[in-house]
Amino acid sequence: MKTILVSIAGLSPQIITETLYYYLIERKPPIWINEVKVLTTYPGKQKIMETLLDKNNGKFYSFCKDYNINPKDIKFDESSVLVLGGDAPIEDIISDKDSAETGNEVVKFTKEISMIPDSNCIYSIAGGRKTMTAYLSLAAQLYGKDDDVLSHTLVSPDFESNRDFYYIPPENKEMEVKDTFGNIIKTLNTKDAKIYSSEIVFLKLRKFLNTKDDLFYDDLVGIAQKRIDFCGDKIVAFDIKNTSVLLGNKKVKLRPIEICIYYLFYYFKIKCKNDFCGDCTDCYLSVNDLSSDDNIKIILNVYEKIYSKNSGHFERLSESFKNQNKGNEFFMQNVSNINKKLKKHLNAFEYPVYRISKTGNYGKRYGIFVDKRNVKRETLYG
Ligand SMILES: [Zn+2]
Repeated sequence: MKTILVSIAGLSPQIITETLYYYLIERKPPIWINEVKVLTTYPGKQKIMETLLDKNNGKFYSFCKDYNINPKDIKFDESSVLVLGGDAPIEDIISDKDSAETGNEVVKFTKEISMIPDSNCIYSIAGGRKTMTAYLSLAAQLYGKDDDVLSHTLVSPDFESNRDFYYIPPENKEMEVKDTFGNIIKTLNTKDAKIYSSEIVFLKLRKFLNTKDDLFYDDLVGIAQKRIDFCGDKIVAFDIKNTSVLLGNKKVKLRPIEICIYYLFYYFKIKCKNDFCGDCTDCYLSVNDLSSDDNIKIILNVYEKIYSKNSGHFERLSESFKNQNKGNEFFMQNVSNINKKLKKHLNAFEYPVYRISKTGNYGKRYGIFVDKRNVKRETLYG
């Protein structure tokens, strides 16, 4: 497992060495960083190349040398620094258009890094234009993984504003502070410098998004929001004995055989392997699945909860399944009757969520859109 420092830089690339210093040296216990990835503007990249990555005077190399770190152990070179706008670099973020473009690029940058296998990320939200770091936090929220960290590195004010300060060296060093005319106004000693970090907890929405899609930031937020809204109040609770089901806040009574068939779809839904099952169809059933021996057993089990095993009702249903009198047509007829009843009881927003819908033109499969997390499992067998 490798750790990637994901950083945004403006014209003060110090924040990168300061953050490296914090995680590798200051933090107890330290966190090793295997790779640095930076998104910056075109002038920002030039600045990084001159001040941090210059082979002779680059501060990244002097930091490694000061602390006996082999610079090859941390992948940080020109290829690690991406420029906003790519081939049409953005110099600075001034207009709304720049800002929207920045948002999309930061999201794309974050997503790509989050897809690197066996890695976790430290998203550093110090440094860079506020628009960029704001988007980095939001992008981390969309794509961050369970162990990722959102980190804000802080440097004591005197040093933060000092252009010559990059990290706290092992040997104390004096530094001059000059005014705009170049006159020395005071002298600082690096022993007084402090670099620390606050790690910020953040929501992780990755599971709500399909990482295969390449979407714009606005759309991603829209999708995540819809899915969150969706999870809250679309509860499904069965009351088998009374052959009814609670859908959201509406109770719908079905015929005994209908409730058993409707139940069957939820039985497969809650077994679905997808985290978010709201719009998945993996747990849908074909007509042949519906009438398989195993599924007929499930239907009969539920039916038995309504009518006892010794009842005439139970015997008749069980017999007709045995004699294969109840084929595909029987199931399709019931699906259609269930949907008719649901439509009568539910409004235009509720009906599409709870009805038995079909998917695919060829070899149609049937299932219910509602997410499996909305199903009250404890009511499934009662
Ligand atoms: Zn599913």
